[in-house]
Amino acid sequence: MSEKAVHFETACVHAGRKVDPTTGAVAPPIHLSTTFERKPDYGAEGYIYSRSANPNREQLEACLAALEGGASAMAFASGSAAASAVFQSLKPGEHVVCSQDAYHNVLRILREVMAAWSLKVSFVDTSDLDAVRDAVSRDTRLIWVESPSNPLLKIVDLAAVADIGHKAGAYTVCDSTFASPVLQRPLAFGMDLVMHSATKYLGGHSDVVGGILVAREQGPLAERLRFLQNTGGAVPSPFDCWLLLRGTATLGVRVRAQSDTALKLAHWLEGHRGVERVLHPGLESHPQHGLAKRQMSGFGAMLSFCVHGGEAAALRTASRVKLFTRATSLGGVESLIEHRASVEGPESRTPKNLLRISVGLEYPDDLIADLDQALS
Ligand SMILES: *Cc1c(COP(=O)(O)O)cnc(C)c1O
Repeated sequence: MSEKAVHFETACVHAGRKVDPTTGAVAPPIHLSTTFERKPDYGAEGYIYSRSANPNREQLEACLAALEGGASAMAFASGSAAASAVFQSLKPGEHVVCSQDAYHNVLRILREVMAAWSLKVSFVDTSDLDAVRDAVSRDTRLIWVESPSNPLLKIVDLAAVADIGHKAGAYTVCDSTFASPVLQRPLAFGMDLVMHSATKYLGGHSDVVGGILVAREQGPLAERLRFLQNTGGAVPSPFDCWLLLRGTATLGVRVRAQSDTALKLAHWLEGHRGVERVLHPGLESHPQHGLAKRQMSGFGAMLSFCVHGGEAAALRTASRVKLFTRATSLGGVESLIEHRASVEGPESRTPKNLLRISVGLEYPDDLIADLDQALS
């Protein structure tokens, strides 16, 4: 049976896996060997050296290619390493259009690393399609969007951006970390590449750092990225790949449950008098709720809210939570709360009274009770 023929939850469990042919082991063995024996005539079929390819990474890549509906996936040591490879696939002097509220370390890579590569970058609000069209020039080779975005939960019209990119001869990439493959398949909207920080929902347990790129087609872009994965060498260890594949098995049920709880929390917060506004694409008050409904099969487990009383009130609320953990990152089984402006530093554009929540797998009413006591 082809992996694409089964439903998503089934693919989460089965794609890229098979019972180990030598031992019958149901859980995949971890292949720590860095090197693989050659034949007497010095020929090699299969594995040679673990930076180039190894069994655990191949299983993970096959699984993610199936889940995103792509032709080829490449695993990296972090989401940032995956993003770096995408930018390194461009030539000096070429132009990138990037979401202005893309993940802050992605912005930093473009500003502080790729600038020395002479990449030209325009940072625009990519939820505004006219702004994207205006920013595209003859030199544009890449449009980088993040949807939903961090931490403002803006939604980008992926089909429209893919269309703009294709007309301009530019590749289009979606950082789909916040949605995970459960809720959004950017390649199906015509995007060329989807990127995940696997550190978040794919790993799902706050215990592994990783990144994934999935290309819609085999072709020059996928080949170049595969080359950069091997040559740059920012690859995940076999154990990291094993953990990520293990996390992916429960991805479907985890993210659906987390996303349902997040919507309950968003509605509850919207009715709280200590809260100025709630940012979550599942709320009718979200300016792109209709687009999110068309483009996603759920609204995600991330939400942000602004409290009345400014930065001091936000910090006070964060200091009082008992079930939520004050920590950065997202996508794990435990709920986290974070004051983004403190984390992002002086160049942050995030409102100072904003708190971001990553909803875990706790019972919704317990999370609501915790927020209630923290806000009171
Ligand atoms: C965490 C994150 C990244 C960066 O991934 P790392 O694994 O931390 O390098 C990129 N984009 C988004 C949306 C993220 O949340």
